[in-house]
Amino acid sequence: MNPEESMLREESHWINGESNEPLNVPGDPIIGFIEGDGVGPDIWSASRLVFDEAVKIVSRCMRRIHWREIPAGEKSFRNSGEHLPAGSLDLIRAARVVIKGPLTTPVGKGIRSINVTLRKELDLYACIRPVKYIPGTPVPVLKPELVDMVLFRENTEDVYAGIEWPSGSEGAAKVIEFLRESMQTRVDPSSGIGIKPMSPYATKRLMRAAMRFAMTNGRRRVTIVHKGNIMKFTEGAFRDWAYELVHEEFSDVFLSENDFESLHHGNIPEGKILVNDRIADAMFQQILLRPAEYDVLAMPNLNGDYLSDALAAQVGGLGMAPGANVGDRCAIFEATHGSAPKYAGQDKVNPCSMLLSGCMMFKHLGWNDVADIIEEGISEAIEAKTVTYDLARLMENAQEVSCSGFAHRVISHMRNTSSEKLAP
Ligand code: NAD
Repeated sequence: MNPEESMLREESHWINGESNEPLNVPGDPIIGFIEGDGVGPDIWSASRLVFDEAVKIVSRCMRRIHWREIPAGEKSFRNSGEHLPAGSLDLIRAARVVIKGPLTTPVGKGIRSINVTLRKELDLYACIRPVKYIPGTPVPVLKPELVDMVLFRENTEDVYAGIEWPSGSEGAAKVIEFLRESMQTRVDPSSGIGIKPMSPYATKRLMRAAMRFAMTNGRRRVTIVHKGNIMKFTEGAFRDWAYELVHEEFSDVFLSENDFESLHHGNIPEGKILVNDRIADAMFQQILLRPAEYDVLAMPNLNGDYLSDALAAQVGGLGMAPGANVGDRCAIFEATHGSAPKYAGQDKVNPCSMLLSGCMMFKHLGWNDVADIIEEGISEAIEAKTVTYDLARLMENAQEVSCSGFAHRVISHMRNTSSEKLAP
């Protein structure tokens, strides 16, 4: 079969739909996957077993996913000499929905981050990370059940934009010279230089996504997290542009913190969303001391990176932290953590990060029934104390299982749940 024939044959499996409209998902869609580096193949193969079984159970074999591998990372480099072949971006654009394992980025040298490249090239401007406690998970805080937040992290700008020059380079020298000559600003000549661009365009579309999410998911508060007291024209402007967007497009639902306290005595009236803001360092205290007061959080790139790992720790650590990078056309679902190279190939780490990212993916497809049964299976496996090493070492009387072993536990709980539901 030539490539054109094979594309035609596959046509009925591609996910369709205009930007910003609900996806048109066939019963047997093509979904892209990137295994990832390090522990990526371990968590991917365990998760795939669970995903396929969950789809089979809830649809009684009427739905099925055609998984399509997308070359990226070390595996792709070994096969083709390229970490991210151009064809991979086209495949992601065609599939529209992709799930990926973590990809390694060497620190301070070598290739640019493939993760950052994917986000920039595909304009995946919102990084969405839900953080919610699953009962039974061992945690370092007293009331983890109070944590139920969804982070919206701007994904394309800030110090992540990749505009930087190393110390001693010609580029750094030119910028330092420009700053001295034209801006009357002295920077030590041996400095490395990085630029932190932030725009009203990127800020507003991120805030729009956070507000729309709050409205469609019954969330009552959106908090803008910034460091505007120090970086006034980037982080401070982020706060101002975010409020501006709310006034321009969401004035009918907007409730200010002032009105919330003085007019409504700490209650949010029906149909309103409280929009407030917090300075980033204070926010790290707030998530520990007053987590119940926070719901949806919207923030620039670096704040989001730090805050999402800190919040993940409150509900059981990186092994329990899912995420998605979403644009108007494509979405890539992935664990928050990296490739954890020291555990690679040991079938040891916790696959929940990817399983829960898969749940986000199934909700994105409109297959909430699949997400629900996987979430139930994970909860039951954790409550039965059959968990991977990261959780087992913090629990009493736990039975440590491997990464794939955990997937099999989830599957057996899913099967039990479905047979109980089917029983007369
Ligand atoms: P990491 O997140 O890979 O691992 C840090 C530690 O967290 C591990 O040593 C392990 O103790 C724990 N951990 C991570 N995942 C776990 C899991 N599923 N179950 C149990 N414990 C888990 O951080 P790192 O070592 O700083 O980064 C390694 C590489 O990953 C780097 O090259 C980094 O750039 C890359 N990275 C990639 C992504 C991504 O692909 N989106 C994200 C972050 C880091």
